[in-house]
Amino acid sequence: MDVRIVIRKNFMGGNLMLWDKPKCTYCEKEIKEEDVVFVKMRYPKRKGFTEIKAYLRNEGTFICEECFNSKME
Ligand SMILES: [Zn+2]
Repeated sequence: MDVRIVIRKNFMGGNLMLWDKPKCTYCEKEIKEEDVVFVKMRYPKRKGFTEIKAYLRNEGTFICEECFNSKME
């Protein structure tokens, strides 16, 4: 099952600097702090909530708000 979640700066008490310059999959724009991004990923099986950050880094596909909105049209 694919899910989309919205990440903001203080998501789970961390911030987006966890990643080395995360980029939008479509336009390759760098994701900045406090940007709203969409992550497409496979929902992890039997993973604890605290493991999701590591899971996102490995499995997540980032989509910036602009590209996400344009794909919805
Ligand atoms: Zn984009």
